[in-house]
Parts: sequence; C-alpha cells; structure tokens
Amino acid sequence: MVAQSTSCYWQQHVDYTMEVAMEVENYQYSGTQKLVYTNNSPDTLNRVYYHLYFNAFQPGSEMDMRLQNISDPDGRMTTTDKKSRIATLSESEMGYLHTVSLSQDGAELRYKEEGTVLEVDLAKPLFPGAKTTFEMEFKGQVPVMIRRAGRNSKEGVALSMSQWYPKMAEYDFEGWHADPYIAREFHGVWGDFDVKLTIDKNFVVGGSGYLQNPEEVGHGYEAPGTKVGKTKGKTLTWHFKAPMVHDFTWAADPDYIHDILPMENGPTLHFLYKNDPGILENWKKLQPKTEEAMDFYNKNIGAYPYDQYSVIQGGDGGMEYAMCTLITGKRTFGSLVGVMTHELAHSWFQHALATNESKYEWMDEGFTTFISTLCMNEIMGTKKENPLQDSYNGYYSLALSGKEQPQTTHADRYDLNYAYGISAYSKGSVFLSQLGYIIGQDKLMETIRRFYTDFKFKHPFPNDIKRTAEKVSGMELDWYLTDWTQTTNTIDYGVKSVTEEDGKTKIVLERIGNMPMPLDILVVYTDETQETFYTPLRMMRGEKENPYAHLNRTVLRDWPWAFPSYEFTVDKPISSIKGIMIDPSQLMADINGENNVWTADAP
Ligand SMILES: [Zn+2]
Repeated sequence: MVAQSTSCYWQQHVDYTMEVAMEVENYQYSGTQKLVYTNNSPDTLNRVYYHLYFNAFQPGSEMDMRLQNISDPDGRMTTTDKKSRIATLSESEMGYLHTVSLSQDGAELRYKEEGTVLEVDLAKPLFPGAKTTFEMEFKGQVPVMIRRAGRNSKEGVALSMSQWYPKMAEYDFEGWHADPYIAREFHGVWGDFDVKLTIDKNFVVGGSGYLQNPEEVGHGYEAPGTKVGKTKGKTLTWHFKAPMVHDFTWAADPDYIHDILPMENGPTLHFLYKNDPGILENWKKLQPKTEEAMDFYNKNIGAYPYDQYSVIQGGDGGMEYAMCTLITGKRTFGSLVGVMTHELAHSWFQHALATNESKYEWMDEGFTTFISTLCMNEIMGTKKENPLQDSYNGYYSLALSGKEQPQTTHADRYDLNYAYGISAYSKGSVFLSQLGYIIGQDKLMETIRRFYTDFKFKHPFPNDIKRTAEKVSGMELDWYLTDWTQTTNTIDYGVKSVTEEDGKTKIVLERIGNMPMPLDILVVYTDETQETFYTPLRMMRGEKENPYAHLNRTVLRDWPWAFPSYEFTVDKPISSIKGIMIDPSQLMADINGENNVWTADAP
C-alpha cells in the first residue's frame, strides 16, 4: 500500500513590491506594483483577477445600488433621509483605482475593469507550481469617507487607507473569490509586502508592516535619543515591510500623536491618535488595556505572531487589518476599550486564521466576538455570569423574527443588514459558547488553542473548527456544524410531564425543535439538595465531563434524536422535588426557555 498524504491543503502565494506617491492636496495617488505570484494549486491558470475596491465609491456602482435598495441601509453610508451618500459624490469626491499598464513576465496583458474587479487574461498559462511576475502601474483617488476607508473622516483623520491598492483575488479549492465590493468583507492571498510610500513630510503614518528607515523618517519611530536628519524636500518616503500578511493598510495625518509601548513578553504597541484634548485621557488609558488584552489572547488562543501592533484613530467605526486596526476615537472609555479589544482579537481570527469573510463571516466575526467578550469581562472586571448573554439575546430575537437566513448565505446577500449582523456576530459567537456546553468548557478552550496552532497562516474552513473540536473531545459533531451553520433549525426542548409512580418520579422530556442537543438536567429537592442528570445525544457518540463537579451527576442512556420524547425516573417521590431545569447554564440556545423549567408549586 502506498501511504497517502494526510493533507491536500494548498494556498497561493503573493509577494508585493510597491512604490506609491500620495498627493495630500487632491487625494490622488499613483504607484507601481511588482507582484510575484506562485501557483501552488494543482490547476493551470489562464486568468487572474484583482480587486479594485475604491471603484465602489462611485455613483452607479454595485455598492451604491445595494445602498439604494436594501431596506435597512448602513447609517454611515446614507444621508439623514436614508439616501445613498455614494450617489451624491462628485468627480473630485469619489474614489477610483485604475490600471494604467499591466504585464506578465514582460509581456503586455489584456485586461478589463468591471466595477471593483479587474479581469486579466494571462499571456501564457501559469502551470501548477510555477511562479510569474506581474508588473502594474496604477492611479487612484481616495474617496470621501463613506465606509471603512477614505479621506477626512468624521473625526478629522486625513487618510484612512485600507483596501487601497490593486489586490490579487484569492484562488483556493473552491475556485476564484473575485467578489465585487458591495458591502462586506475581504479575503486575500498570503504573502510578503514591501511598500515605499512617499507623502508630505508633515504627515505621520501608521499601519501594517515594520518601518525600515525610522532614523530617516522620525515621527516617533526613531530609537529614543536619535537625531533625525532634516528633510530637504516637501516629502518623505516611508519604507515598510510586512511579512506573511494578506493585506496592507495604513493611515496618515499631520496631527497624529504617536505613542509607543514595548511589551515585555509581546510585540511593540503603537498608538496613533489626533491631538484632540477631548480624547487624550482615554487614549492614554487605552494603552495598558491593550497590553492586557494582548496578554489575554496570547494566553487563551496562542502567541501573537508579529512583533508590532498599532491602534490607529481612523476609519468609520472599527475594522481589523494586518498588524493594526483603524478605530474611531471619540468614544467613552468603555467603548474605546471595547472596540480595541474586538479588533485586536481579529489579529487571530482573520489575520492569522484567515477565513473568507464573505462566505464564513460567522467564523471571523463570531469567534472574535466570543473571545473579545470574554476578554472584556476579564480586563474591565465586569465578571458577568454569562458574558455572552447579549449574543444569545440577539440570536433569539433574530430566530423568532422570521427574518433569519442560514449562515451559509453570502455576506452580501442577506435580505437585511440586521440579519447579517446577528448571524455573523451573535449566532457566530454562540456557536463557540454553545460548543462549550456540548463538549465542556476546558475542551472548548483547548479546541480554540489547537485550531490556532493547526491553522494559523492558512484559510480555515468551517469543517476545520468542527474537526478540531472532534479531535479534542472525541465526539462526533457533524450534526452541530450542519444544523447550526447551514440551516435555521432551532433548539427547543421542554419538560413535558412530571408524575409519580410507585413512590418514584417519572420525568418526561420532549424535543420540539428540529435541532438536536444533549441535555443537562438539574433537579432541586425540597431539602435544598441538588443533583444533575445528563442525556448524551446518541449521534454525538460520546459524553462530556461533569460540568457541575460539586454535584452528583447521573449519566442516562443516550437520546436518539428522532424520538420526540424521552423518559427517566428519579428514585424519590414527587413531593420531595422542588424544581427541575433543563440546562441551568443556559449556554444551550433554546429559543423557548419557559418550558425548560418545572416547579412543584406551579399550577
Ligand atoms: Zn469584527
């Protein structure tokens, strides 16, 4: 027998070298891009696609049309009377990104710009395992801030430069992911970036990558005590290198304050924020909190994989990028820490574990929400019993609204932004929280750490988190992944009846919803003693450890899902029972909590 490789995973690779000049007077920029593309796929490629995201910010774009037609448009992107702000942009306010020339290994290429995607026919086929070099000249204009990137943010940040360069689309076993830029979000190819940015010398720049010429640039990047030479011309060239990232983002403003906090057992933290008296105190207090959050994630997920992380005031809310985040800065302290904590967590769940945010948004937004909520609970001392209660409540309201669509829906094609938001963030975080209910809390945290170890610097797929949890727990979990993420099936179990027979108590439980679950059942006696019972789900083929170590637990026979009811007996008379409760932890997302409880004195 020939041994088969245990893994057939592959991913493409890109190395970018870019030189870009930004005109801060008219927000126009031009640049050159050399892109060395390695085809690690088993397929021969005859075309490639680039994203030209800034073309979304033009009247008549798909993003504009979507804004005009969705019934709950994003308030940041609309006027007070709910009209598209993109539709009102003038020539000098809109965004664009155009190719001026493009070649492959020296041969001119034919290409066609279709909105936010550049379609390129290759001059010669790119065979499996082969490398090719694309050279491009491009020009762009930074749009007025509509969403995520742009000029002159509401808080006065001059340049928020995310998704600003011609970006190679990802190709994986699913094929090309040349999604048009309609609302959300991103997927990119892993690789090394070498970026030289020439800009007005008064501007301070922060972003992805390590600055290669700090002594030349200064602006706080120089080693303490170093003299930075005076620049003769009007501009400075900043040289950044970012190894193994799938995105390169920067922001710049002439009034940024730049603070540096080197962590003892972690990366160097940079903070760039406007010299605005109203925010200074919060932005100083934010710095040790960022250190605490970094420690929390290092401990609970795995070591942050870069030597630098920057928290930058910019953008229109909070958005994660490689080695940095752009967040709005005029917030209460709690909100400022909250957004930093969330975006920093994306360094793991997006920038190291790079899921496709258009297709599996519940994995990056949901897992980020899960871990950042636990982190906030710790570093802000909230100490809530169930820190994720808001996520559960959000999910319940969506599930009961009739507006839920399965999590397999493409992020741009939910009927409502509301349904997308709850599905990605709330239902996505409940995926993990509830997984902890199924396999046990320790196994859940072990699953998260192992998922990171096994899949960092890759594009994990939904099956990968399921397989990791299966390997850690020894359980079969396909039913969980399938029902929770590919359907809108709901969980509803109830206590159907409690009766006495021959001095013993017969408890009948019922399954009302279609989604299967194992059950923990708490029985409280009139003498205030308690014990629990556990009905493993048969198709789970395993049992979790007793989550209530201080209580006696009886493991009952498995509940085969197809049976709508399940009966067991407690060896005591009904008069001794005060109450019965299904899942006292309430980590199982049962959409009807009322029938989970039976009390003796109820009518
Ligand atoms: Zn997020």
